[in-house]
This record gives sequence, structure tokens and C-alpha cells, in this order.
Amino acid sequence: AAALVLAGCSSRTADETAGGSGEEAGFAADSLVGVALPAKTSENWVLAGDLFTEGLADAGFESDVQYAAASGTVADQQSQIQSMVTKGAKVIIIGAADGSQLGTQVAAAKEAGATVIAYDRLILNTEDLDYYVAYDNAEVGRLQGQALLDGMAAKGEGPYTIELFSGSPDDANSAVFFNGAMEVLQPAIDSGDVVVGSGQTDIQQTATQGWEAENAQSRMDSLLTSTYTGDTQLDGVLSPNDNLARAIITSVKGAGKDIPVVTGQDSEVESVKSIMAGEQYSTINKDTRALVAKAIEMAEQLQKGEDVDVNDEESYDNGSKIVPAFLLPPVIVTKENAAEAYANDPTLGPIAEG
Ligand code: BGC
Repeated sequence: AAALVLAGCSSRTADETAGGSGEEAGFAADSLVGVALPAKTSENWVLAGDLFTEGLADAGFESDVQYAAASGTVADQQSQIQSMVTKGAKVIIIGAADGSQLGTQVAAAKEAGATVIAYDRLILNTEDLDYYVAYDNAEVGRLQGQALLDGMAAKGEGPYTIELFSGSPDDANSAVFFNGAMEVLQPAIDSGDVVVGSGQTDIQQTATQGWEAENAQSRMDSLLTSTYTGDTQLDGVLSPNDNLARAIITSVKGAGKDIPVVTGQDSEVESVKSIMAGEQYSTINKDTRALVAKAIEMAEQLQKGEDVDVNDEESYDNGSKIVPAFLLPPVIVTKENAAEAYANDPTLGPIAEG
């Protein structure tokens, strides 16, 4: 039978709640599951909140779904998680506002017998984190790097001049996306086929604080003035997500330049429209419905006292431990495969059909 070695979950108290199956049950089926999400910095987070509320109710759980405020996010999320612990949540699913600032709250959750699942973004420097569920972030970066090269090659011969943007430094994903992209871009930079016009190639220089569009737009404005005056051509921009991609495109258009090949991520409605209109070059499809469903499935497995389904036990070292993870595969989307990629998406499907 499913004899459990569930890292830190409340399986020890299983005898009290066990049903008639003869197997240990994790905890009562109508227990509280807390979901702490970051600020709504992209559409995926907006969607996730609604999907968690619906999905957890359908699964029979009580739920408490919270977002961190747009400002003061860290303190806000810390107190939301603490309150979930106090209310006796059995599982706490966290999309971290700042992955390195939640050690105390995750420890408190563990101490109270809750299982903590990092959702989409890893939580760093704590041994008390139990699981991670996300799209394969390194692969997202590699796909972005490859799309940038492919998009530029389709327009003409190199050498190509590019600029690099990365996400918010407080989000553990940002470095993973960037390093994944650089795995693909660095050989082209080393061979001279790709040149970073400004010379800004390290992650501190390319960062976009808070994933805020206005920060990417103003950095692009400055790059255009410092490096791309006159006829100097900009062929491509590595953008880590759609919201920033659109800000970068706005900046370039404002300067009266041709739109370079710009990557993205998240399949946001406005970006899919932009791709179909031939402006933004690519995005990544990370279906939020599938990710939320997987996180809820983990909560159900914990509730029943079953082993939690993971498929990666080596990639995500959070500084204190390797976190057992379930990674879903991201899909690159350009104008060419959009209709196929969004065939089952009620919102994006019709847009991609044109
Ligand atoms: C998510 C991306 C999102 C970004 C900004 C990241 O952690 O993985 O999908 O674009 O946060 O919200």
C-alpha cells in the first residue's frame, strides 16, 4: 500500500482521519488549502487566482486565495501566509512575491503540520519547502533564446545586433529564464554572429525591477538614445515576458525605428494579437489551467495520503535542498503555430485563427 514518506506532511496524524480504505489518509477532505499569490504582474496570475478558487471548491476543499498588494508585496504576502497557518491550512500553495523572503513563514507552516508547495516560482534558502510545481523555466529561457535567433535569421543574414532584458531580481525564475536563454545565445555572441549593442550582458544590467512594464520601457528608451541613434539597426530583443515585450515594442515604435524581433512569455491576449499582426515575434504557452490543476492534484494526493507525483528531483536546488518538482513542458508560439498551439483555448484560439 501507499506507505508514506511524505516530506513533512501531516501523515503522522493520519490514523485519526483515516477512512475505511485501510490506508493512511492525509487529512480531512474538507480541509483548508491556502493559496498565496504575488501581485498581478501578468495575466497568468490573474487567471490563477480564479482557477484556484473554483478548482479547490470542486475538489471539496475550503480555500483561502490571496494576492500580495502591488506595493509592499513582501510584507503583505508574509502576513497572508502566516494567517493561513493560523487558520490551520493543511496545504499552502505559494507563488512567491520575493522568493528569498519567505523562510520564516514556510518554517511556521511546516511547524504547524502544513505542506508547502511553491507554485511557478521557487522559494529559496529553506529546508521547509516540500514541493515545487512549475513549467520548466530553464526550457522557457532556451526556447526564448532560440526563437530570437530563428526570428532574426528569417529576416536576413547576420551579424545581428541585439539587447537583453531579464525579469525582476526578487523572482527566482528571472535568473533561470535568463541563463536558459544565454545557453543558446552565448555561442552566437562568442562567434561574433550576435552582438549585444550596448554591451550590457549581465543580469544586474538587464533586470526589470518588479516585472514592471514602465521599467523595461524606460530602459529601452535609454538604450535607443545611447546606442541606436541615426540608422543604427537593432535586430532583436530578448524579452522575458509578454508584458515587457509590449513595453519594449512601444519604446522602439516611439523612437521611429523598425520593430526588432522581440520574444515573450505567457500568451497574453494583447501579445497574441501583436504576434498575429506581425509585431511581437514569439511568446511561450504555459497554460495556467494545467499548472493550477497540477497544484490542486498535489493537494488531493496529500489529502488522501498518497505519494505526491513529481517528475524532477535534481534541477531545483533552492540553496538549502533540492526541491522535488513536477515540471510541465512550455511551448514556443510564433505566428506560424499559433492556431495549433491555442486550438483548445477558448480565448486565444479565435485570435490565433485570425
Ligand atoms: C512567471 C512568468 C511571469 C512573470 C511576471 C514569472 O515568475 O513565471 O510567467 O511573466 O513571473 O509575472
